[in-house]
Amino acid sequence: MAHRKGQAAECPVCHRKRGTYDTRERTWRHLDIWQYETIVHCAVPRADCPEDGVHACRMPWEVRPSSHFTALFEAQVIVMALSGMAVTAIAHLVHETDARIWRLLGKAVAEARDAAGYSDVVRVGIDDTARRRGQSCISIMADLDGQRVIAVTEGRDKGAVGRLCGELEGHGGDRTKVQEVTRDMAEACSLGVAAEMPQAVQTVDRFHVVQLLNRAIDHVRCAKKRRQLAGTKYVWLQGKESLTERQLAKREELDPAKTHLRTARACQMGEALQDVYSCAGRESAARALDRLCSWMMHSNVREMKTVARTLRKEREGILNWWKRGSTNSFLEGLNSVVQSVRSAARGFRSIAYFRTMIFLRLGRLDFTAQKKLACATH
Ligand SMILES: [Zn+2]
Repeated sequence: MAHRKGQAAECPVCHRKRGTYDTRERTWRHLDIWQYETIVHCAVPRADCPEDGVHACRMPWEVRPSSHFTALFEAQVIVMALSGMAVTAIAHLVHETDARIWRLLGKAVAEARDAAGYSDVVRVGIDDTARRRGQSCISIMADLDGQRVIAVTEGRDKGAVGRLCGELEGHGGDRTKVQEVTRDMAEACSLGVAAEMPQAVQTVDRFHVVQLLNRAIDHVRCAKKRRQLAGTKYVWLQGKESLTERQLAKREELDPAKTHLRTARACQMGEALQDVYSCAGRESAARALDRLCSWMMHSNVREMKTVARTLRKEREGILNWWKRGSTNSFLEGLNSVVQSVRSAARGFRSIAYFRTMIFLRLGRLDFTAQKKLACATH
């Protein structure tokens, strides 16, 4: 592309035709023509505007100033990423570096989020997920009515809720308008919500309650094997009368018949929780939940006692679930999608990449312009 001598240059600020100050050579990566890598070269004129000063003209094929790609190329990459292709695969296919593709996607996501606006958000869900096994956690805030992820931050400490609220407000939302927060049973999260959004009703989602109990049941079930591995031979070899009180307790715990009984009892408690959730109203659910908790507390299963303590502490939040009366399938499904995003991007070195991917897949952002543009090339 070339700029003809004497041709007027449009000022990018006031959009009036102005004289040309000078030109500067730039290049853009475009879609391949046949099998050949295609690069647009252009001496971009700078408009000499008496009101706004000297500014480089905007070229019709560029999405934003200083982009390395043409709009068509960018649209194609976004459509590929939306379809679920991994960034490394896209980069390999279009012969660009991963870092450049990530930067392109990051900018496109940021622009789409600015355009989205979260002013109508009144019901949110907060959940956390591990970025990689043994690594730091990511906290996610979702708009439950819009079924979209609206904020992502690192960590799940007490401050994480504050950072999520900050991000919400950075995009036109208002934390004081939030009426309901659905969350898990992490203490940091409940404290954070109470501090940042005191007006909101806190609800513990059914999914998290069931998960807590199921994990405890698994724990009871596996305990048998783990205890055998612990190497406590002396407990069996010595006579009962020479054992200390702790050793006696250990022997009791290791008794195969009793282990079996504990597992069976834990499973029954799991079924009792299902009965709690099949209650029609809050009143009957409260009674069933209290019954279950006291059964757990009086059982001889240590893991179940811990669960009961958590359930008692979160009683109000758990019972608030009956006010709405429906489970939040979006929040429930969120975790598995996030896990798949995580495994699809094995090379995540930065949280910024993970955020970009989550918003791309779960942000419900408007990419119709890019989709149209990508279709126009066929
Ligand atoms: Zn101007």
